Amino acid sequence: MSNRILLIEDNEQNRYLATFLLERHGYRVESAADGASGVQAAESSVPDLILLDIQLPLMDGHAVARALRAIPVLDATPIIAVTSYAMVGDREKSLAAGCDGYIEKPIDPDTFVSTIEQIVTTVRAGRNAS
Ligand code: MN
Repeated sequence: MSNRILLIEDNEQNRYLATFLLERHGYRVESAADGASGVQAAESSVPDLILLDIQLPLMDGHAVARALRAIPVLDATPIIAVTSYAMVGDREKSLAAGCDGYIEKPIDPDTFVSTIEQIVTTVRAGRNAS
């Protein structure tokens, strides 16, 4: 997969950990700490992948996903929701809002990047088939 990732995450520790893991695997990470600046960043930089925290202040991740999906230049950009395991219904709502997959929090350093890569591969395969 190509290598520019936009990370929308309000928690500084999660942002740090996710960025560290992704950069170690050769990805370039741009991050935003809230939904509105995330949408703005996505529209201007058109990343190859968006990682979207669902629990965000002001504009939650579902609203952010819908806003991102309304931007035509981002049609080809997969969005992966980062959801809390404890939040029942988050995952289904994320998919309904336009996310292509989800990954669970807490971030597992051993599987985080490979899980993301797997989801992206699956999404791309599905798009090529249709
Ligand atoms: Mn959060």
